[in-house]
Amino acid sequence: MNRKTIFSIVLTISIFALAACASVTATPTSSNTESIPIASNDLQATMPATTSNTDPNVIAPTAGTTVSMDPSLACSGGKTTASTTLELTEGPYYTADTPERANLYEEGMPGTKLVITGYVYDTNCQPVANAWLDFWQADANGEYDNSGYTLRGHQFTDANGFYSLTTVVPGIYPGRTEHIHFKVQAPNGPIITSQLFFPGVAQNESDGIFDASLLLPIQETSAGLQAQFNFVVSAP
Ligand code: FE
Repeated sequence: MNRKTIFSIVLTISIFALAACASVTATPTSSNTESIPIASNDLQATMPATTSNTDPNVIAPTAGTTVSMDPSLACSGGKTTASTTLELTEGPYYTADTPERANLYEEGMPGTKLVITGYVYDTNCQPVANAWLDFWQADANGEYDNSGYTLRGHQFTDANGFYSLTTVVPGIYPGRTEHIHFKVQAPNGPIITSQLFFPGVAQNESDGIFDASLLLPIQETSAGLQAQFNFVVSAP
């Protein structure tokens, strides 16, 4: 081999080494919009044609729309049993008697808009109609409205057990990772109080309350951030 050939080989190896380093350093960061898990399209489900929600800000599935259902969702993929949703602490900021509304987003509100949809099931994976869901959370700056009802609201599932929540991605406040609080209850059943979490947030690892079973599978769509989450409750 002459000097030119050796130089070419060394140059080629260097380029490959640099490319490998670049791909390693391009791992997700703490921003929840930069580490979106890839949704599985293995399982398809047809959403109900209508929902009881008439709020124009709420993104509801249209008739016959086929959406991907994450197979990790409780009661998806033909499962016939499920454990109840993990209960976690209520925290200090719950306010009772929230307004009934599926849309907590208000025009001009800071933060990234997010729509969460899903179903409430019983432990036999039967949909629970008229289940009560109450959501509350910090705003994008990590602050709760403790005197009013901003980012607080309750709703009821429709006849298919379906719900849809429109809100924003919450901010972080000292000692906690990003989370949305909720209570869910079948009619006359026990209340489950817990919290939903966001993937790819660095603070998840240092948050003593965080549990991966309550991670929202966030997807970036043309309509904004969306996630599906099914709740499982004990029915009386
Ligand atoms: Fe909180």
